[in-house]
Amino acid sequence: MIEMRSPSQIEQMRPAGRFVAEVLTHLSKVVDVGTNLLEIDEIAHDMIRRRGAESCYIDYHPSFGASPFGKVICTSVNDAVLHGLPHDYDLADGDLLTLDFAVAVDGWVSDSALSFVVGTPRPEDLRLIEVTGQALDAGIDAARPGNRIGDIAHAIGSVARGAGLGINLQFGGHGVGRTMHGDPHIPNDGTPGRGFKLQPGLVIAIEPWFLHTTDEIYTDPDGWTLRSADGSRGAHMEHTVAITEDGPLVLTARD
Ligand code: MG
Repeated sequence: MIEMRSPSQIEQMRPAGRFVAEVLTHLSKVVDVGTNLLEIDEIAHDMIRRRGAESCYIDYHPSFGASPFGKVICTSVNDAVLHGLPHDYDLADGDLLTLDFAVAVDGWVSDSALSFVVGTPRPEDLRLIEVTGQALDAGIDAARPGNRIGDIAHAIGSVARGAGLGINLQFGGHGVGRTMHGDPHIPNDGTPGRGFKLQPGLVIAIEPWFLHTTDEIYTDPDGWTLRSADGSRGAHMEHTVAITEDGPLVLTARD
């Protein structure tokens, strides 16, 4: 079921978005070569406790998960692109890291992800991150009343295809509200003019993710982390966006 939020409910969703942005901004500044993935989880968990927020991940136990996630943030490194389970690993020079973070504040969820390189970047990694960010921007720009889900999907997919990247449609964006994953599903490629018609009050996470040289993934033995089939690196950028009369409002915007 697709739920619509009133303008006052969208106002109530702002603190969660601001807090998610604050945590990701902080982590992107302090995480560096040598930082352990478990340390990143601890920092995020500490910030959640101090804010009185509620993690959407720690008890998350979907049908495909072997057990509850148990951590508060996803840390996906290099060939890992989605759902990276934090583990005892010190980041190395040039690692491409994706942080994906979702919490509820005052009962409203926000969800956001970003990719960056620690230490000395490889040019192709910067390019992948840049293109993924451009796809996110294009998707957000299409999130306007009167457009349809297919217009967002097509905007994202066009950027990826233009950059010669493959697109995996197994995981994509989703409705956001009282819980992390609601309807509608927002695929990362699609047909313009098709699908649910966007209207003010729809709140969605838009989340393009791409791999350098494949569109296939497999699940790591940890039961969660999704890795590229060919070992190539991935990037993932996500914002929670409210569709308003005035256009898209990015609730998780970072300064
Ligand atoms: Mg997310």
